[in-house]
Amino acid sequence: MKKWIVCLAGCWTGCLLVAIPSRAQDLGRVRATIDTLCSPGMYGRGYVKEGEKIAARYLARRFAAIGLHAFGTASGEPYFQPFSLDVNTFPRPIRLKIDKKTLVTGQDYLLNAISRKGRGTGKVRRLDTLILTDESARQRFLQSKTKDQVVVYEQKHYARLVELPPDLLNKMHEAKALIELQNSNKLTASLSPSQLSHPLFEVKAAGFNPNAQRVKFRAYARLIAGYSTQNVIGYVRGTAEPDSFVVISAHYDHLGTLGRAYFPGANDNASGISMLLELAHHFAAHPPRYSVAFVAFGAEEAGLVGSKFYVEHPLFPLRQIRFLINLDLVGTGDDGLMVVNGTAMTPEFDRLSRINQQNGYFPTLSKRANAPNSDHFYFAIRGVRSVFLYTLGGIKAYHDVDDRPETLPLTKYKEVFGLLRQFIE
Ligand SMILES: [Zn+2]
Repeated sequence: MKKWIVCLAGCWTGCLLVAIPSRAQDLGRVRATIDTLCSPGMYGRGYVKEGEKIAARYLARRFAAIGLHAFGTASGEPYFQPFSLDVNTFPRPIRLKIDKKTLVTGQDYLLNAISRKGRGTGKVRRLDTLILTDESARQRFLQSKTKDQVVVYEQKHYARLVELPPDLLNKMHEAKALIELQNSNKLTASLSPSQLSHPLFEVKAAGFNPNAQRVKFRAYARLIAGYSTQNVIGYVRGTAEPDSFVVISAHYDHLGTLGRAYFPGANDNASGISMLLELAHHFAAHPPRYSVAFVAFGAEEAGLVGSKFYVEHPLFPLRQIRFLINLDLVGTGDDGLMVVNGTAMTPEFDRLSRINQQNGYFPTLSKRANAPNSDHFYFAIRGVRSVFLYTLGGIKAYHDVDDRPETLPLTKYKEVFGLLRQFIE
């Protein structure tokens, strides 16, 4: 990865100007957009210190500078479409010490999204996996005390643990805290609209001493009901059929903070937002036949909340959308480009493939069936013709503190931009 970056820093802009002289998106500007969205002052574009709102206001300023039109909404802010959600947050420092070793938040462990607050010290209790199968082990567990303990189990047993009878689960939940050891060396964070009855730490198994005796912890979690956030929406008016829209969408929110750590979200999805802004720049200067709406969704990471709200409260009738292209994770591309819902969008997929072939952007385009994995989903199930594009290969950082701008390669950025520009034109 490092090798790539060294190479890119030296030759990129030059190469690009040669490749597409008059229509190159500005890669300095792309990097600046991504750096800004990932900066500490955006707090991971989540719900602590209004990170999402800081990001949304930044986008509104960019939309205004580009000259996008706004749809009239109830909000005072011209491009904002407000909505609300319930979300669990981790605004204060978190500590986890196992025997004498203090673990690093984000690097060595995460607090599971559904954690409640709690603090204290507890004796380590490795969960006897016999309770999954053996009745006498279950009885022994039920008769033991878990109250002063921190129960430790392996992630691979999670699916079977949650199927245990309620009395066994309750016994587990009486513990001061739970530690789930992550089998892979990868921590993957998420968001939750609710809380458990105790803190639940996810710890990399590789860093956990199997003979550990004591755990000292402090976790603070705040469940916010009805947090007010927003989608950010603007458009370019079409020259021939302004009532027909192509929609370019991407989510700008991310996972926010975890105590002092935060999730920068460079690939997910500063990459997609930067692409949306580059397309907005291009089409504001060269309006196409149809109108183009640029929709930056909020609260995608919380479960596609912003796009679901939009589909239920569209700013113009959904039937006026000719096609929707959702961008989420477009910062790599070594192994190609995936078109989700491409299997159902045959004419559009064929057109994308033709443009791709003519320009040699990718060896081939991949396609798969629709899935609820990003903001195109609720549009697709409402019958709006739509696809979701993500690049394949490259960095492994995903929903972790390592999804940073410095290591985001933007391998096929100009190719994806060219493909979309030509497709829309
Ligand atoms: Zn994500």
